[in-house]
Amino acid sequence: MNEKPTRRDVLGHAVRGAALMGMGGVAAYVSRRAGPEGAWRIDVERCVNSRHGAVGVAVCDKCATTCVLPLSAVRAVNDHAKCGRCYICPAYFEITSAIDERGLPSQKLCPRDAIRRTPIGEVDPRDPANNYYEYTIDEKLCNGCGKCVMGCKEPAGLSSIRLEVRYDLCVRCNRCAIAVACPDEAYERRPVQT
Ligand code: SF4
Ligand code: SF4
Ligand code: SF4
Repeated sequence: MNEKPTRRDVLGHAVRGAALMGMGGVAAYVSRRAGPEGAWRIDVERCVNSRHGAVGVAVCDKCATTCVLPLSAVRAVNDHAKCGRCYICPAYFEITSAIDERGLPSQKLCPRDAIRRTPIGEVDPRDPANNYYEYTIDEKLCNGCGKCVMGCKEPAGLSSIRLEVRYDLCVRCNRCAIAVACPDEAYERRPVQT
């Protein structure tokens, strides 16, 4: 039996293609910026905010609070190819807050209001949950506090958000203050292939 594709199915194909093209552009940009001398990077498999299995633990905010720059060189990045574009995103909403008249959590998770939630295409007002929503992070506002990374982590989310050092912002201190403070030895300097 041929089942008619839902609105979510159709939108999903289109958005995944566009997201993959976007990620390719980002990768090319990063490889141009990184020099052969190496750069500070975050190992997402070690960082408590993104490490699988570390659930129900406190968020680490040291990337936000210990960088020598006034606004940390670390930002949250959403991998759109991996994101589920959920109606109720646990990285965008404070899911334990009271439910409002729309049936959505009334508070946002990000303390700096740096995440934008945009419906993709037209929303059917009778069924807004049958739609995709794009979540983009405004890097002028984000300070890498890690809350959304922890919120998106499986099993609540799809682990599409991670922390990254912005090579164009980081001044590459010889002794990075974040690397010194990092409790998980997740902040490390590695040679980068160009
Ligand atoms: S890392 Fe913190 S400041 Fe940045 S988008 Fe996530 S919650 Fe907001
Ligand atoms: S090397 Fe310096 S500027 Fe770069 S992240 Fe570490 S403390 Fe911040
Ligand atoms: S200091 Fe280490 S554990 Fe904490 S958010 Fe940064 S990379 Fe993750």
